[in-house]
Amino acid sequence: MKQIINKSLINKKVINLGLSISKNFIGKNPILIGVLKGSFIFTADLLRSIKIDCEVEFVKVQSYKGAKSTGNVEIISDINTNLKGRHIIIVEDIIDSGKTINFLYNEFKQKSVKSISVATFLMKSNQQKFDFPIDYIGFEIKQGFVVGYGLDYNQKYRNLDSLYVIES
Ligand code: IMP
Ligand code: MG
Repeated sequence: MKQIINKSLINKKVINLGLSISKNFIGKNPILIGVLKGSFIFTADLLRSIKIDCEVEFVKVQSYKGAKSTGNVEIISDINTNLKGRHIIIVEDIIDSGKTINFLYNEFKQKSVKSISVATFLMKSNQQKFDFPIDYIGFEIKQGFVVGYGLDYNQKYRNLDSLYVIES
């Protein structure tokens, strides 16, 4: 495993994302919706760097087995809070094919929310096309399977506080 982003760079970036969100959502009391499990650490750090009123919820999805996508996304654990009229920010660990975020965006669109924004810790640069903006991006990375800062390989390495790429 090779380290590609160290923890101090991660911390600085997350603080900046939190500042942008704080500016953009003054008086709007947004709900951050963390996508489990991968985004739990990013969601926690991002939440603490937001300096305005906000709330947090989590949704659990499953889409990956090991390093290979199974292609289908399903919600394993949903949110009970009423999202009607609320500003929500979906918080992802990484956008790869975009299947997960596309699926979630369309799910939440049907809940009469006031606005949907997307924050992702990582964006893999494979020219995905979206019908909506990815508003807050931590880092863009090249192809390769990465672990650490919440991201796993078969449930391991989530505890690493820097980001690593698995070299084959
Ligand atoms: P997508 O649906 O292809 O965009 O994949 C999104 C999900 O797959 C992410 O939320 C991650 O949980 C997982 N994933 C994709 N790439 C990686 C990776 O490099 N490391 C760890 N998890 C990944
Ligand atoms: Mg994920």
